[in-house]
This record gives sequence, C-alpha cells and structure tokens, in this order.
Amino acid sequence: ETLGSTTVICTDKTGTITQNQMKVATLVLGERQWLADQNGLSQAEGFADAWATMALCNNARLTDDHYLGDPTEGALLLLAQGLQPIGDLAARFPRLHESPFDSATKRMITTHKAGNGQPNLAYMKGAPEVVFKKCTHRLQQGERVQFDDATRRQALDLYEVLAARGERVLALASKTTDTDAASEEDFVYLGLVGMLDPPRPEIAEAIDKCRSAGIRVFMITGDYHTTAESIARQVGLFTGDGQVIVGEKLLAMSEQELSVLLDSRELVFARSTPLQKLQIVKGLQKKGEIVTVTGDGVNDAPALKNANMGVAMGVSGTEVAKEAADMVLMDDNFATIVLAIEEGRTIFSNIKKFIAYILTSNVPEILPFIAFVAIDAPLALTVVLILTIDLGTDMLPALGLGRELPEQDVMKQAPRRRDERLLTWPLLAMSYGILGMLQAAAGFFAFFVVLYQGGWVWGAELPTSGLLYRTAVTSFFAAVVICQVADVLICRTRRQSILSAGIFRNKLIWVGIAAELGLLAAISQIEFLQPFFGTAAIGWFEISLALPFAAASSGAG
Ligand code: ADP
Ligand code: MG
Repeated sequence: ETLGSTTVICTDKTGTITQNQMKVATLVLGERQWLADQNGLSQAEGFADAWATMALCNNARLTDDHYLGDPTEGALLLLAQGLQPIGDLAARFPRLHESPFDSATKRMITTHKAGNGQPNLAYMKGAPEVVFKKCTHRLQQGERVQFDDATRRQALDLYEVLAARGERVLALASKTTDTDAASEEDFVYLGLVGMLDPPRPEIAEAIDKCRSAGIRVFMITGDYHTTAESIARQVGLFTGDGQVIVGEKLLAMSEQELSVLLDSRELVFARSTPLQKLQIVKGLQKKGEIVTVTGDGVNDAPALKNANMGVAMGVSGTEVAKEAADMVLMDDNFATIVLAIEEGRTIFSNIKKFIAYILTSNVPEILPFIAFVAIDAPLALTVVLILTIDLGTDMLPALGLGRELPEQDVMKQAPRRRDERLLTWPLLAMSYGILGMLQAAAGFFAFFVVLYQGGWVWGAELPTSGLLYRTAVTSFFAAVVICQVADVLICRTRRQSILSAGIFRNKLIWVGIAAELGLLAAISQIEFLQPFFGTAAIGWFEISLALPFAAASSGAG
C-alpha cells in the first residue's frame, strides 16, 4: 500500500534493470581490442597473465554446464575456460590471501603461492579507474615498461569505447610479490574486459508505466557513467536530456545543490557507493517524496531501512539486505516492482470501494428509527433485519469488492497524496448523502405503499405480529437489498465505466450478488424462517417498488 503511493523509485542497474547474465564481449590486450572469440587472441600481449587473473582472482566456481557465484566473475571464468582449460590451476597456485571486492573499493586482489622458490603472484581485477591508479607498469613485448600518461590515456580511451556500447568494464593487473598479502601498489596493467549484460525485455514498458503513473525512476549504480548512460538509453530511462551524476560529484555537492538536482526528471547516478544511495534517499524524502529503493548488498541496509519502501533482491540479495527491507523481490526484476505498485494502488482503491459500499446501507438502517422516534411512524425495519443486512446480505458482495482487479487507469493517475485519507468528504457525501438517501427512500416507499394498500391509515393500530406489518417490513428490507445490488456495481469502479471494467471480470461479485438475492428469497419466502425474522412472503409487485430507486442510484453513481 505504501508502494502504491511511491513517487520516486531508486533502482539498481545490474540484475534489476539488466538480466544479470554477463557475457564477455570484448577484451583489450596490448593496446588493441579483441572480440572474445577472435582467432589469435592467445597470442596477444599479456594473454597468459590476463588469463590467470580471470581464473584465479575469482570466487565463482565452474560446474558441469555453468558456474556458481557472482555473474561478473562467472562470465570471466567461462571465458577463461573457453580459451584454455583451467584444470587444477587453483591447486597449483594456492591462494594465500584475498582482499575481497566490494562496492566501495570496487576491486579485488588475491595473492597466490607460486612454489619452486618463485616469488608469490598477485592478481587484481576491478573498475578501471581504480585499477589504473594502482598500476605503475604495463607489458610491451613481454617486458615490463612504464605505464606512462600517454598509454594510460590510451587505455582510458578504449575503456570509454567499450562502455559506450553498454559494456561493463573491468581492468586486469598482476605482479609478483614477496609478501603473503600483496600491497595495493606497483601492479602491472594487463588489459580490459568488457562484458554485456542485456536489459530485461520488459523494463522499457515498466518504465513507461511509471512515467504515466507520475513516478520518477532514478538508477543508482556502481558501474561506470558511460555504461550506465548507455543502459539508461536502451531501456528508455533517458528520453532526452537525462543527467548522469558520478559519485565524486555527488560528494562535493551542498545540500542546496542536491535538492535542486533531485528535482530533475531523469537522473542516473554512476560510480556511486551505498552511502550515496542513502544520501539520495534522504535528500528525496526531505522534499516530501515517497521513496522506494532497491538494494542487494550488506552496505545497502541503511538506505533500505531509511526509505519509505526498501526492496531487497531475493535472488542476488544478502541476508542483511533482506532483513533491512520491507519487501523482498523474488525475481530481482524491476518490472515486478511496478506490478507491485499497481497492486498497492489497487488495494487502497478497493478498500475505498468496500467502505463506500458498506456505509451506504447504514442510512436506510438508521432512518426508520429516527422516523419512529421523531414522527411516530411505524418502525419500518426491525433489528433482526438490520443484522441480516450487516452480517448477511452485505457481506459477500463487500468481500467481492476487495477482490476487484486493477482499473485500467490505475497507472495513469498521479501518485496518491500522502495525506489522502480512506474516508474522504466526497466519499461520505456519495454514500450517505446520495446513495444512502435513495435507498432509504426506496425502503419507505415500498413500506408505505404496502401499508396503504393493505388499508392502513396514519395513526391506526398496526400489530407487529400481523401479516400486513410483516409484509411491509419485508418490502423495506427487500428494497435495501435490491438497491445494494445496484450499489455494489456502482462501487466496483471509481473512475471507469462498469462496461469497460468488464462486467463479469470479477466472479466473486456475482457470487456475492447471487448469495445476497438468495438470502432475500430464503428469508422472505421460506415459511419456517419467517417467524424468526419477522418476515412475510412478498411478490414481484413489492420487489418492483424498489426498482426505480435502484435505477436512480445507478444513474447517480
Ligand atoms: P553495480 O552492482 O551497480 O553494477 P558494483 O558495485 O557491483 O555495481 O560494481 C562496480 C564496478 O566494480 C563495476 O563496474 C566493475 O568494474 C567492478 N566490479 C564488479 N564486480 C566485481 C568483482 N567481482 N571483482 C572486481 N571488480 C568488480
Ligand atoms: Mg553489483
């Protein structure tokens, strides 16, 4: 239900917008680009070291037909295996130490024992900007040479080319070391790996839906800005002048600047850390937005907790993220969040329909007592019959309203205002003021027509056990039931016409109506029930007295 009032969704990219099925598309080795399946790749500069980095600086595991573990790492492992069988490499170079990957440091380093008196080997993979800073050398014809500014710039240019195609890029580096846990400097730059992770096909439509539902979608990713922008364009997050804000820039922003920025329609945050996610969530909330945020990592917990709606990933998410979240997304799919928003909006609107329906019959239930006290009219509805309406005839149709399917335009409305109540003045005016009054009028009309036809005059004696009184009371009850049948059809839709909503789309409503009419028939027609309910058999004439009022209320509704 909170989801239904969401105004901004901050979503992850990898796995949520994309399929999380990474496949290496491009390699950069020795200053030139290679396709992942290109002939001659194994003769490229630094191939052996790059291959070892992919195979050893990796926590995924190959299985018979696929891999287990992180998709980024799995893609590297599959590529390495495809190029040259990995075999028992990991056993021959046992891992001495690991400095694990995380979204803040954006790199992973492992140190391995080479044996035979050789120095240990260290391998690093990670975001290129990060890796480049830790590299002092590169390879040229098998020799270590200086990784100078010119070659660094060249590598950066190639990085940009890969990223512009939407590829997720990692840089590879290695070195020898005497320690058991390699330091983070003096690495030898080996090359780049670009992998493609195609967007999920249903995302573009989901984002369109959000747009027409007045919900802004911001993407927050740890990935490179060019990659992020390329994906944003592919799924339609950017339609025109979208802005990509990188983490560093966000850090340098004042609260004022951030507040202005967060008014933008289309925003993507790249190279951001989980802490910045929190900063964005808080910034949006300060502006009165209702924020839904997704997250998978341990570090995402603060953002998930602080958001109005924290959504953790069921497949790739950590336990910590799931604990901190309000909702766990079983398929990690952004489009599913949008479906849940639709569901949330529908729940709110169905509760409203339910209330509107239930309230209406209160008026014909209370007015007979007021008339009884105020103008000395005969009591037109008995307590037993009031209970029969509340606990009997109204029950199933009301439950049916709770099961209404979303109206076609739920996702074309702006988000509900945060302070909008379930009970609003227009709803009360409609239920009590118009529909309720019409029902009461129907009841009194039927009641008095039956009485006057039976020869009663105002003020005359009217024994409550007599047939005339019981017929009149039953007619009042029947009128309320018949008007409530019209009412449930009115309440089914708030904005749409009943015809476009599909008359028979909600079967439960019709079950409810059938039960309601069945009860009416039983209570009025079955002889041994009549003494208990104080009713008498009525005919089509008595029933028909309510029809004009039911028709009028359909018109009003
Ligand atoms: P996101 O999940 O938003 O795509 P991440 O924080 O997972 O972002 O990744 C940020 C960057 O870190 C990636 O662009 C990539 O360069 C690098 N990276 C991702 N996964 C790994 C990993 N397992 N080991 C090393 N570097 C990685
Ligand atoms: Mg990730």
